[in-house]
Amino acid sequence: MTQFASVYPLVTARSLAREFTYEVPDGVGPGAVVEVRFGNARRRGVVTEIGVAPPDGIQAAPVDRVVEELPPALVELALWVAAYYGSTPGRALALVAPLKRKARGERARPAERDSLPGEAVPAELSDSQRTALRRIVRAIDASSGVNLLLHGATGSGKTEVYLQACTAALERGLGAVVLVPEIALTPQAVGRFTARFGDRIAILHSALSEAERRDERARIASGDARIVVGARSAVFAPVPRLGLICVDEEHDPSYKQESDPRYDARTVAAKRAALEHAVAVFGSATPRPESWGSLERLELGGRLAGPLPPVRIVDLRREAGYPLSAPLLAELGAIAERGGKAILLLNRRGVAPALHCRACGVTLRCTNCDVALVLHADATMRCHHCGHAEPEPTTCAACGSTELARLGAGTQRLERELETQLPELERIRLDADVVDTRGAPAAALARFAAADRAVLVGTQMVAKGHHFPGVALAAVVDADTGLGLPDFRAEERTFQLLTQLAGRSGRDAPGRVLVQTFQPDARAIALAANHDVPRFLAGELERRRELGYPPFRHLVRVVVAGPEPDAPLQALAELRAGLSEHDLLGPAPLLRLRGRHRAQLVAKTDHPRRIATQASRLLSAAAPAMRRAGLTAVVDVDPQSL
Ligand SMILES: [Zn+2]
Ligand SMILES: [Zn+2]
Repeated sequence: MTQFASVYPLVTARSLAREFTYEVPDGVGPGAVVEVRFGNARRRGVVTEIGVAPPDGIQAAPVDRVVEELPPALVELALWVAAYYGSTPGRALALVAPLKRKARGERARPAERDSLPGEAVPAELSDSQRTALRRIVRAIDASSGVNLLLHGATGSGKTEVYLQACTAALERGLGAVVLVPEIALTPQAVGRFTARFGDRIAILHSALSEAERRDERARIASGDARIVVGARSAVFAPVPRLGLICVDEEHDPSYKQESDPRYDARTVAAKRAALEHAVAVFGSATPRPESWGSLERLELGGRLAGPLPPVRIVDLRREAGYPLSAPLLAELGAIAERGGKAILLLNRRGVAPALHCRACGVTLRCTNCDVALVLHADATMRCHHCGHAEPEPTTCAACGSTELARLGAGTQRLERELETQLPELERIRLDADVVDTRGAPAAALARFAAADRAVLVGTQMVAKGHHFPGVALAAVVDADTGLGLPDFRAEERTFQLLTQLAGRSGRDAPGRVLVQTFQPDARAIALAANHDVPRFLAGELERRRELGYPPFRHLVRVVVAGPEPDAPLQALAELRAGLSEHDLLGPAPLLRLRGRHRAQLVAKTDHPRRIATQASRLLSAAAPAMRRAGLTAVVDVDPQSL
């Protein structure tokens, strides 16, 4: 019998964002990925509904072949993502049905390449670990679709709870997805899962080749690999019979995708758990206020191996010697003498964040962006937004003076200062300049793990969930870097960064933490120094309630960019007039980036989906005029920064 199906072609054009009817063979159901003729081309598409009638007068073509079968719940999830984030079904479905290529020869499996050795199963769990695990397993058995927050200090044993929860899922014939922020920076977490589960693990992340991804997806879909570890896109892994999703380091901003569809893997994980009656466990030492305020909490408490290290605040208004103050040098000197490891965090790359003319006061800026150029060690001035680079000048372009001052410090300058002052310590740098090379982060981390007296210098990457033996000192060189940002999450980010970094110190031996700052009384800094997570989050939630920020209301951000300064503001003023929400901020100008003038409009709303839909519709209607004016627009639901 002939049957017809609704098929969404996987195309990005908004004008083709609808279903088309095709004839499909018997046995094909929702979730089938098919190859179809579409216009003059051959495209892949996803079957969303079976048994539909072709539109009058239309001769529905048969599909060419069935490529793959996805769990139907994933199709539902993708369509939800498209609607909630104001994207198109085609783009969202492409997340659950990424391109397939033909198999090639034997390769090392990603699990082997991307992991550092794991640890053995501990003899027994702590009481709080056992209680948390029992609650998770009960939720898995109840198929309740519940969300749980696993809160515990760094070193309190969260990973072991994930591991044993995965074991419980496997014993019940269910699969699990474990999300980690960035695979390249978390080889240890991957290593622990590989050591425990061997072949039953699949690894998914953006740096895999097409062929590797195809292999891993095939192992997942066939049920050979029941546990998937991966970065944010792994939330869409085609795991049959999903029982558990763990989101490790749930505070990490990399869970939000910054290109269309602008989904947040944490929100998607919660939705997927609800659709498939699975359990979602969000874990962190420094949870988001959103999770703290709304989820059932499982408390692991403090560290398994003794108390958290004491934190000493170094007041830079009183101590000379930035970036290496006398107290910091003294601590590093002790390490150079006795052996051990230190981690230094400075959240800025390069040598100096700006070059400033002492004679006329001009700061060297990028020609394409409204930001200062950063001096790098190879004597180039680089823009960290657009990648523009030019040689370091010897004279000021504005006045000809040779009095050019290097303002502030970046990781490369810190590396040099250490070389001069403490040459006996091995220096290992970890920042975006290093990470550009494939395999480099894992190599740097392995080198640090093996060293006996070394300093790891880097940006926020060094604060990720690494666990190295023998780290006696963790220091924040400039705690103020993030606090000055005009962003409602500036305090939250600073608090998380300081607390996470402090957690790297003294995990197996007495450790020390040093925080250099010009604002020792700032709330985020003072409370991080006391490891006081509950008090920080309570205050943060109170502030957000007053200001109507998440989790109390949602934000929808619209950014318009164009070649002229006024046009983006005008376009947003017109958009503003058409929105039904009254709590609107802006339009306000933003920094110019990549030669484009930008402006934003922000809605605080209880109905993010409605506002995003309205904005998308208004922008589509205005598209021809905007195209003529060279304007582009982006709608971002639940943005991570403003
Ligand atoms: Zn000058
Ligand atoms: Zn630039």
